[in-house]
Amino acid sequence: MLLDIEQIRKDFPILKQTVNGKPLVYLDNAATTQKPVQVINRMVAYYENENSNVHRGVHQMSQLATDAYESARKYIANYIHASDPKEVIFTRGATESINLIANIFETFVNEGDEIVITSMEHHSNLVPWQQLCVRTGAGLIVIPVNEEGELDTDQFKNALNEKTRLVALAHISNVLGTINPVKEITQLAHEMDVPVLIDGAQAIAHIPVDVSDIDCEFYTFSGHKAYAPMGIGVLYGKTEWLDKLPPYQFGGEMIESVHFDATTFNELPYKFEAGTPNVEGALGLEAAIRYIDKHGIENIRKYEDELLAFATSQLNLIEDLQIIGTAAQKTAVISFIVDGVHAYDIGTLLDKMGIAIRTGNHCAQPLVESFGLTGTIRMSLAMYNTKKEIELFMEALIKVLSMLR
Ligand code: PMP
Repeated sequence: MLLDIEQIRKDFPILKQTVNGKPLVYLDNAATTQKPVQVINRMVAYYENENSNVHRGVHQMSQLATDAYESARKYIANYIHASDPKEVIFTRGATESINLIANIFETFVNEGDEIVITSMEHHSNLVPWQQLCVRTGAGLIVIPVNEEGELDTDQFKNALNEKTRLVALAHISNVLGTINPVKEITQLAHEMDVPVLIDGAQAIAHIPVDVSDIDCEFYTFSGHKAYAPMGIGVLYGKTEWLDKLPPYQFGGEMIESVHFDATTFNELPYKFEAGTPNVEGALGLEAAIRYIDKHGIENIRKYEDELLAFATSQLNLIEDLQIIGTAAQKTAVISFIVDGVHAYDIGTLLDKMGIAIRTGNHCAQPLVESFGLTGTIRMSLAMYNTKKEIELFMEALIKVLSMLR
């Protein structure tokens, strides 16, 4: 095995918790991941040694904080293969990153134009575009998924035309686990001169992310789904696009000079970072990405794929259980339903046995409804999960089903 899972588990203090007297089996990683001591300690160290406001003071503390904040940006830019650190904007998370673009994109969208999304989008990558369409009179074009939960690139070819202003889609579905062919779709969009935004919320902790290779105009993710704290995330944008888009919020930091009758704006990335930023979050995010990088994203992917294959084979043994999302390219998210049993009841009883999974529509109501469902049960894995935990989950599930059926 390429990962030392026992050591990795020791790095995550919360995994020692018990729930209802049972050892915690945490299988809700698509909602948020737990945090290793390396991330927690980095934030504590910041408040003990470096805390100050950034980009403002001449004093030494401010310089320390600014240097740390900017080197976090540099590290993350390098990790995702951005061509310049100024292309990495710190935000509160994927939702804020997408809203940022959807709000200021109004400049480029007129009545009769079209925005293309897919039916597998999280509400965060659906409602902001829908509302942009409401405000501008543009049309929202939705590319459907097939029964396996895959996209058909031909459908993009057919949908893209001279009215298309943007394509927005998930790198990985938080319900189906499908890994989308984002590079191929980006190429298709570029043939029509259409920019592409990729929602990488479910990708960053699980597969390599290379924005230069994908060649997308925008890429977004949240730190908290990648072992980093909540309240920090990234909007990557190509310089040429970030330069031509107007600011999103106004205030300190994002200005160059201010007069009562006019203001000029700061250069990238500060133009999009109004107000005091989440410095400890950025440092925590850097520590989290370093933690991923130390173990190697390809090793993590391989290990999670093994867990995925094991869990899938075990679940397939259960009568009347159906996995929703069986794409050939898939990552460690498994949604399923069991005939005649309500997802919520299964989730509640599993919790009594110390097992944390998610039930419901997972903030993707139109997708779940397109499968004729109101909800699924979802287990989602991370690098610290084990085969033993999947066995505990299976034992508990079998017990729960015998109680409910
Ligand atoms: N997109 C996807 C695919 C997600 O899974 C999530 C979170 N579940 C989001 C966007 C939104 O992330 P956040 O709430 O951290 O902004």
